Amino acid sequence: MTASTLLLDDITLTYPDGEGRLTALDAVSLTVDAGTVTACVGPSGSGKSSLLAVAATLVTPDSGRVVVAGTDTTGLGPAEKAALRRTRLGIVFQQPNLLPSLTAAEQLQVMAHLAGRRPRAARDHALELLAAVGLADQAHRRPHQLSGGQRQRVNIARALMNEPAVLLVDEPTSALDHERGAAILDLLLSLTRDRGTATVLVTHDRAHLERMDAVVTMADGRLGAARATAG
Ligand code: ADP
Ligand code: MG
Repeated sequence: MTASTLLLDDITLTYPDGEGRLTALDAVSLTVDAGTVTACVGPSGSGKSSLLAVAATLVTPDSGRVVVAGTDTTGLGPAEKAALRRTRLGIVFQQPNLLPSLTAAEQLQVMAHLAGRRPRAARDHALELLAAVGLADQAHRRPHQLSGGQRQRVNIARALMNEPAVLLVDEPTSALDHERGAAILDLLLSLTRDRGTATVLVTHDRAHLERMDAVVTMADGRLGAARATAG
């Protein structure tokens, strides 16, 4: 369904760099359909996080179009972009950035509060999502009472709280051991199928790429031709 698709169309992004400009994204185009995961791999500094930042509307490209769930974000103001992020985009950064004083359930409820949802329904939804990421028993725990893998699961559940059309995930397994990392990738695949998100997964972990719907490679700001995978 086009309504749940992410489209990046001919994106170029430069940053100031001494006298000149550094090209972080060079004519990048990418389409991600609902219910699919596109993995993005590539060396450090190749532009992967920049790609996610542009898709998340956190960084405005020099040129090109970002379309989120049918909304062309070109020309939207900061408040409109913030509203789009709250309602249509789920963003999972490398660092969970959980609030130290809040329980796992409360981390999720904050998102619903920001979106103006009713507290009672938000609580039920938060508990449902924590169960979906395997943390049904941990809803009352604060970040320091959770393992790294559990914190990353809370982070993912929080990103899903407002039922985003697009889920953007930056190296979610970089701080985890291999086994826990594999479990997080499994979880992202099943959540994407169940909730129909168009998911972009930046990962260093080459072990599970064959299970992704597509794999793209970044090198020097350019996106290699998408390779569809068997599964
Ligand atoms: P990756 O996530 O693949 O490691 P990034 O998107 O973080 O790559 O960075 C791509 C390039 O853009 C790098 O050369 C990096 O140094 C540069 N870069 C990233 N963010 C900024 C910024 N805010 N200002 C200037 N240069 C940046
Ligand atoms: Mg990065």
